[in-house]
Amino acid sequence: MGTWRTHFIGELRSTHVGQQVRLCGWVNTTREHGDLLFVLVRDRTGVAQVRIQQSRDAGGDSRLWATAVELGLEFCVRVTGTVALRPDDARNPDMPTGDIEVTPVEIEILNDCPPLPFPIHRETEISETTALKYRYLQMRRPSLARVIRLRHELVLCLRNLMSGMGFIEIETPLLTRSTPEGARDFLVPSRVYPGRFFALPQSPQQYKELLMIGGVDRYFQFARCLRDEDARADRQAEHTQLDFEMSFVDREDIIEVLEAIYGGAAERFSSKRLQRIPIPRMSYHEAMHRFGSDKPDLRFELELVDLSPVFTGCSSPSLAKAAAAPDEVVRGFAVPGGGGWSRKELDALVDPATGTGGIAWVALKEGALRSSPLKSALDGDRLDALRRATSAGPDDLIIVAGGLRRKTLESLGRVRVAMGRKLRLIDEDVLAFAFIIDFPMFEWNADEGRLEPVHHMFVLPKTEHIPLLDTAPLEVLTTQVDAVCNGYELCSGSLRIYTPALQKKVMGLIGITDEDAQRKFGHLLTALRFGAPPHGGAAPGLDRLLMVLLGTDRMSDVVAFPKTYSGRDLLMDAPAEVDPAQLADLHLRVEPPREGV
Ligand code: ASP
Repeated sequence: MGTWRTHFIGELRSTHVGQQVRLCGWVNTTREHGDLLFVLVRDRTGVAQVRIQQSRDAGGDSRLWATAVELGLEFCVRVTGTVALRPDDARNPDMPTGDIEVTPVEIEILNDCPPLPFPIHRETEISETTALKYRYLQMRRPSLARVIRLRHELVLCLRNLMSGMGFIEIETPLLTRSTPEGARDFLVPSRVYPGRFFALPQSPQQYKELLMIGGVDRYFQFARCLRDEDARADRQAEHTQLDFEMSFVDREDIIEVLEAIYGGAAERFSSKRLQRIPIPRMSYHEAMHRFGSDKPDLRFELELVDLSPVFTGCSSPSLAKAAAAPDEVVRGFAVPGGGGWSRKELDALVDPATGTGGIAWVALKEGALRSSPLKSALDGDRLDALRRATSAGPDDLIIVAGGLRRKTLESLGRVRVAMGRKLRLIDEDVLAFAFIIDFPMFEWNADEGRLEPVHHMFVLPKTEHIPLLDTAPLEVLTTQVDAVCNGYELCSGSLRIYTPALQKKVMGLIGITDEDAQRKFGHLLTALRFGAPPHGGAAPGLDRLLMVLLGTDRMSDVVAFPKTYSGRDLLMDAPAEVDPAQLADLHLRVEPPREGV
């Protein structure tokens, strides 16, 4: 314990009665009661009561009293005294230290504290701006202190798990060159090499592959990944991944490691129940078609079904086209009891601002059509067919959408989640993990008119699909595996391309010229020539995992020093302007922002 103190405050129990203790911490609350003053003192382990008596006759000490009445909230103090049993009627069973109190002989004020921007001892709501600006004060609250500690324990548990499975921890550089993961790079200008820049790693992807070529065989690290993209509730510009890579493996081996990670973490750190063991697998195609998402929330049903047969040849030109065209779909699902919802509720379903454009609804009442924008398309026995296809009850609402495959499925997926929430179908006590497999290798970027990797360009296609790279690249499926839980993507991984010829071919398909490939990725292409082993790995996000385990949807709840949604560090006030001399050292000049940028 050192010489400053003898015990942690939260550890004091009746077994310590009679012992001399020295405690350090903060004043949590003070309460005057006649000639008694009760001060709750807190450190990271908990609080304990210190009892100070005023009157000299009853054993009080005027010097002590004078100090005690000076105490304000969050003063930093040291208390020296004796542990005593509280009188029976003063015991507090809700407090771990509630059987005892400390009778002080000395109270030292180590540092005082001005009025606080928010209370520490009461967990009141704090605005995001105030919370982030005074994060160190928020951290004194037991709620955040507990999460920070839990994060440490999770990291420790995972580190031991990985080491136990034969992985070795290796740090890779932060100052490096771009490893594309689909976001913008953060760049660091070089002072020594004018006009040159390091890129901060979006992930250690290339390094971990180089480690496999180096014969390391099994690597892991808790890697900081820096991506210059807009923050969202569940995403920040920097995040941490449990990055791992292994040699001479199949996709199955990667899944096995992920199962150990997620199974172990859930068992130890969550009171929620795993929905299914072993963790189920689902193809990307199935996830998109049944749930409208490649990270489906499997805690509730509301599955999408095919409605093309219902609308084939119907009078709505767009639905008839969607029912016939190979790259379009018509799908939907029934919402139990939604047939009686008001017009306002129904219109809210199709608000394009929430990414649910193209959605239509059919409201039923006692089995008949109550209202629907699709009324004219539901002629003849189409309404019956629609009811049968969706297994709709007599007073249900049926959601229908038709159009280009991915856009339509994603719209339906968003409405599905909104319905699950509205109808309170989501079982909050469950962790519904799944592995999503058989992802396509590419998607078409219509804005840039080129193929783009769905994950990244180092992913190995399925062996039997390699010939399709030449003929039908959009049909190529890969060895990618994503772990998802409760609607969050927790992790992506895959086997990797390990021959230079195939890697060059994939680079070519996404529009990287031979010259650029050599300039930007020459190191990897060269390394792959030196007997590179077949390898693969994944990178479970640590922040998201903790979010799911704790049941929060805000990443800022699980990070010690988070940034705002707009990417600012309010505590340190960053990003900040720098001295002109620093810019000159870096050979940089700042131009005023261009119009519209
Ligand atoms: N580097 C990948 C990512 O950050 C993970 C992987 O493929 O291992 O998503």
